[in-house]
Amino acid sequence: MENFEVRKPHAVLIPAPGQGHINPLLKLAKLLHLKGFHITFVNTEYNHKRLLKSRGSNSFDGFTDFCFETIPDGLTPLEDESYLTNGYLETKVDWIPGLKNFRLKDIFDFIRTTNPNDIMLEFFIDIADRVPRDSTIILNTFNELESDVINVLLSMFPSLYPIGPLSSLLNQTPSNHQLASLDSNLWKENTKCLEWLEPKEPGSVVYVNFGSITVMSEEKLLEFAWGLANSKKPFLWIIRPDLVIGGSVVLSSEFLNEISDRGLIASWCPQEKVLNHPSIGGFLTHCGWNSTTESICAGVPMLCWPFFGDQPPNSRFICNEWEIGIEIDTNVKRDEVEKLVNELMVGEKGKKMRQKAMELKKKALESTSPGGCSYMNLDKVIKEVLLKQN
Ligand code: UDP
Repeated sequence: MENFEVRKPHAVLIPAPGQGHINPLLKLAKLLHLKGFHITFVNTEYNHKRLLKSRGSNSFDGFTDFCFETIPDGLTPLEDESYLTNGYLETKVDWIPGLKNFRLKDIFDFIRTTNPNDIMLEFFIDIADRVPRDSTIILNTFNELESDVINVLLSMFPSLYPIGPLSSLLNQTPSNHQLASLDSNLWKENTKCLEWLEPKEPGSVVYVNFGSITVMSEEKLLEFAWGLANSKKPFLWIIRPDLVIGGSVVLSSEFLNEISDRGLIASWCPQEKVLNHPSIGGFLTHCGWNSTTESICAGVPMLCWPFFGDQPPNSRFICNEWEIGIEIDTNVKRDEVEKLVNELMVGEKGKKMRQKAMELKKKALESTSPGGCSYMNLDKVIKEVLLKQN
């Protein structure tokens, strides 16, 4: 009989460099391996190092026909290692037009790099370069809030129009009952929050909400919980059912007893109405752009705990540029929360921040009132776009 070797089919699997892509693809790789495939599983160098680290002494050696390979990810050794050292993140970034006093950690985290050849940085530059310069672009902001950034963008895109804050613009535009009743909540609102706020002293309640995407470890949630409890200030805390990574939220009866006379916890609320309630004195937020502008429109100062994406730069603007917020360390601790909540609600700094927030509120209102910049820009945009169509 003729002696020949049957070669196994070979599958090369290359997941996008995120946990949510690596997990299912590794499952597929295992399934294919069981069906007789030779597997090559390709990770970025950075993720491969992290995989090895998380496996401890269990390396990938010893597997037959199941190989792990790496591809470069554009991160220099300095960058990937240094992400874990604060010194590097404190590096001053002074080459982005319109952004003053920024540190590396304040940059949109997908492009947080000092490497001009970083793959994500190149990707975003490429996307921006593809936008035709004569496009009509609208921004959910107003001139007085970010004039430096807007001017830089205007020098590149002459048809750029700030028309925000949209919530304020909409509030000032006559509507009808049917339209006003249209909302866009993905979670069911708990309107009891407003009833609960009703009898509270003006400016006495801390409103806590980390938006729709931010997640945190149970450990961090407990630091926030006890920091709030120890501050002795009344608070309304919105805890989404999926806020805690890998599990549901369980707060001890000890904590719930401690806060029973001054805390309310709910899973979703009508945020704009809450922020505009007279009893709200401060907002502990993840600094999503909507939350940021809604807080400004309500004249409410903030405690900032940015999570990802545009939230770090938003927080930098809130705290440094507009001086209407204080940032909480990423590695949050209860003592710091307690101290900063008190500073925000009854401290001298809080008082000044409240004043500045009220000034910005006034400017937002002016910009979105008839004759204001944002108000007029919306009309200009509509005219311009219709003209381009004809
Ligand atoms: N929001 C709300 N109720 C909540 C939490 C959030 O109505 O309990 C709204 C909030 O008013 C804002 C949006 O959800 O308009 C959250 O957007 P943001 O940009 O602040 O954060 P993201 O969820 O995108 O991180």
